[in-house]
Amino acid sequence: MKDINWYNYSLETQAIRAGHNRTHEDEHSMPIFATSSYVFKNAEEAALRFTGQTPGNIYSRFTNPTVSAFQERLAFMEKGERCLAFSSGMAAIMAVGMGLLKAGDHVVCSRSVFGNTVLLFQNYFGKFGVETDFVDLTNSEAWESAIKPNTRFLFLETPSNPLIEIADIELLATIAHKHDCLLIVDNVFCTPVLQKPLGLGADIVVHSATKYIDGQGRCIGGAVIAGNEVIEKSIYPYLRTGGATMSPFNAWVFLSGLETLAVRMKAHCDNAFKLAKWLEQQAGIAKVHYPGLQSHAQHELAKRQQSHFGGVVSFELNGGKDKAWKLIDATEMISITANLGDVKTTITHPATTTHGRLAPETRAAAGIKDGLVRVSVGLENIEDIKKDLLKGL
Ligand SMILES: *Cc1c(COP(=O)(O)O)cnc(C)c1O
Repeated sequence: MKDINWYNYSLETQAIRAGHNRTHEDEHSMPIFATSSYVFKNAEEAALRFTGQTPGNIYSRFTNPTVSAFQERLAFMEKGERCLAFSSGMAAIMAVGMGLLKAGDHVVCSRSVFGNTVLLFQNYFGKFGVETDFVDLTNSEAWESAIKPNTRFLFLETPSNPLIEIADIELLATIAHKHDCLLIVDNVFCTPVLQKPLGLGADIVVHSATKYIDGQGRCIGGAVIAGNEVIEKSIYPYLRTGGATMSPFNAWVFLSGLETLAVRMKAHCDNAFKLAKWLEQQAGIAKVHYPGLQSHAQHELAKRQQSHFGGVVSFELNGGKDKAWKLIDATEMISITANLGDVKTTITHPATTTHGRLAPETRAAAGIKDGLVRVSVGLENIEDIKKDLLKGL
């Protein structure tokens, strides 16, 4: 196979071709390497591989050719030096924390991150002497004033879940670096198709591959993308020891997910934009949260930072939880599930599901009201999606 430098190709091409190093069987499609271990030619070679003096596979907890293909492809797409895959998005975030933090360290985290991310920092890292302060995602002064001498990194999602707020990655990277901290961005909502945080100054990107990267709601997986040094020194040793490994089968599913990611994201964004504009005109809705709308507080920033506005729309119904549940239950086709990024449209009530385990004060501070409904807009015909929501409006 020709040795191609995929850095010279655009994302759509990398997504389809990068990462697969064809074997002696000349297969056209990436195979699943279902093997837990690898064989050495002799005892000396085994020893050299274990010390890292010669490259090569040892054991699939830390390297597997199918998983490596996924890692290489996603690294190219995010314009990062290295990528490591994990068994879930949470396992990827856990790996960043385990790799970079020690007792006595401090983290500044956006208040509007995935519910389990809040719990991971607060309850679990907290138990081992890492303190986390939560700040308003869009308030850059709050970020800077929360930084302490022992702050190791800033962590955020943009757009956020479920309020679809946008943070200025470039500005927060400047603030982080001024104080000798790293900036970590959870890029699940945008994927590298819409936004490349590393190019905007972020140091580490984390992913839940479970969402748009799979795109059809089949597998759980995650990834960390960063520079070679961070990966080698902090993340890879933890993966090798901690063992939250992505399975080769899941990597194979995610590889084919990446191949259609660019066309799917464009279609998700087109449908979501249409739905958001339509929702704004419906009665009984207090507010529609979508960065493509003029009414969105960071509309200009979203235009500058992202290539499109994303596939998730949320809106607040007048009438609180009762109205929200009624609307959700009145749908016929749309799936009531907390997952997102699927070709199927999904609907969820954040206050009692994804964010239900948060303390009511924490939830209120994050602005997640009882009337809030989140729709991850799928690829069905937009008129059918509108019709289904209209049943409960
Ligand atoms: C789902 C999700 C995660 C966690 O990923 P899992 O694969 O479910 O562990 C993290 N961040 C965001 C933004 C998510 O949507």
